[in-house]
Amino acid sequence: MRFSKLFAPTLREVPAEAEVVSQQLMLRAGFMRKSAAGMYSYLPLAWRVLKKIENIIREEMDASGAQEILMPIVQPAELWQESGRWDVYGLEMVRLKDRHNREFCLGPTHEEMVTSLIRGDVRSYRQLPMNLYQIQNKYRDERRPRFGLMRGREFIMKDAYSFDRDEAGLDVSYKTMYDAYTRIFDRCGLTYRPVEADSGAIGGNGSHEFMVLAESGEAEIAYCTQCDYAADVEKAELHEIVAPEETALEKAEVVTPDCKTIVDVCNYLNLPQDKSVKAVAFKSEKGLILCFVRGDHEVNEIKVVNTVGVNEVEMADEDMLIAAGTCGGYMGPCGIDPKKAIVVCDSTVMKMHNFCCGANKEGYHLVNVNPGRDFTPTYVADIRLIQEGDPCPHCGGKVAKARGIEVGQVFKLFTKYSKAMHATFLDEQGKEQPMVMGCYGIGVSRTMAAAIEQNNDKDGIIWPVAIAPYEVLVVPVNNKDAESTAKAEEIYAALTKAGVETVIDDRNERPGVKFKDADLIGYPLRVVVGPKTLKAGEIEVKARKTGEVTMLPVAGDYVAAIKEMLAKL
Ligand code: ATP
Ligand code: MG
Repeated sequence: MRFSKLFAPTLREVPAEAEVVSQQLMLRAGFMRKSAAGMYSYLPLAWRVLKKIENIIREEMDASGAQEILMPIVQPAELWQESGRWDVYGLEMVRLKDRHNREFCLGPTHEEMVTSLIRGDVRSYRQLPMNLYQIQNKYRDERRPRFGLMRGREFIMKDAYSFDRDEAGLDVSYKTMYDAYTRIFDRCGLTYRPVEADSGAIGGNGSHEFMVLAESGEAEIAYCTQCDYAADVEKAELHEIVAPEETALEKAEVVTPDCKTIVDVCNYLNLPQDKSVKAVAFKSEKGLILCFVRGDHEVNEIKVVNTVGVNEVEMADEDMLIAAGTCGGYMGPCGIDPKKAIVVCDSTVMKMHNFCCGANKEGYHLVNVNPGRDFTPTYVADIRLIQEGDPCPHCGGKVAKARGIEVGQVFKLFTKYSKAMHATFLDEQGKEQPMVMGCYGIGVSRTMAAAIEQNNDKDGIIWPVAIAPYEVLVVPVNNKDAESTAKAEEIYAALTKAGVETVIDDRNERPGVKFKDADLIGYPLRVVVGPKTLKAGEIEVKARKTGEVTMLPVAGDYVAAIKEMLAKL
């Protein structure tokens, strides 16, 4: 490709609307242009990257036995009414009507469509297992489309659906997809973590999200520094911490003036924070919920919602606290009337002894409080937020935190759709059984953005070779020098002929401008051909990632040397 002909309109200024680095760089480097919020045209450089990601996905999906199909984007409402999702999907679904006033949607996902497809033609256990996938645009009218391709309204997804005879079969299909995903993201050259994505309600292995680690990630993940354990922070399960045995002392009320926070109280009473219990109060459709965790722990709202079985919680108002016989800053679990408030204690609190907590009275705390003897909560559950240094729920090692971008998810659907939509098969005994399903998504366009979020510097993008739009840029530095320009053309032709994806920057620009654009676009290798080095019989090859410069003899087999360098990057 000749740069003078390439449709890659670079910008000198960072577009003001761009919030994250992938969006800034893709606009600046001429990879994409916006048409409306969350909708973009992919220009040639981006499209090449996307096709490379798609091809890696295709190869690994095919190798794992999945078969590629392509279903319509436009889906009839009836299918979604059958599954019961037409009315619950909400505003994220883009709905439309045809000229006969029939309702349709633009597919946000394809469980309904694929289930209806397979139920007509797959009738026998002999046809199972089966895994079908497609790569296609998806539509979701996200409440907040943002971060460029990371959260778009139109985006490219690979979605696969597996059908098995039973749960044992699903386990195999799920593992096959999980393994394929690790190969896909390895081959894309990304640093990622598969994380447990469910709260353990379906056995702890019902879903994993694949997270590309990057500071700008919307998800916070907790991972073990010693074993493979990783989970979404909101979902990470925690074992109770058992405090060493102690003789129960007599409970007593102490005056604690102006001690509204746990730090104030512990300082005032000279107690370590892990000998105190703090409170968070929520209001919900079931009324007031008082939550208690150890003084140095934090409450995880999602776990509270799940424990109490409410739709959502909000911070409680002071008058609600007063009505329940307590007050802000001095809440404690002792003496709360269960008719006035639901008391939820973290399991670790129940294993503490002689602790300090609020006395439900302005200016007072209780000391030497002991669970069981002094109070009985409505619920005891794991309701705390995992934090750095916590023991890993799998191996006991230390937990650390990182931010991540969800690029893929594998999910066990079991018989949710097959039962609702009557996708059944006949087993060996001729008995009708619902198919057991799984679904597996990869955000293809989000993966491209995530690759940039993870691999960039102040000068631009640093593409992993496997998904770079081109592998090598050849830069003739002095257009007026006929000999070196001719040599650059020769090198460009030789590399292209050898199958190396190469661009030549044949523009009549200063070297500085060419080098800036080379770094911005992020070619893995840049070959500089100039009169000075040529005189010494050499060309200069610079690796974008490491900045390492190698001089290659122009009389030697530089094509082989460049191929070798690419393979090592
Ligand atoms: P999120 O929680 O980020 O909204 P999701 O759970 O809704 O994601 P899935 O329904 O599992 O996502 O979709 C499969 C994959 O599609 C995701 O892992 C993600 O990579 C990608 N994806 C989902 N929503 C978007 C979007 N709005 N823009 C770009 N990619 C997306
Ligand atoms: Mg979503």
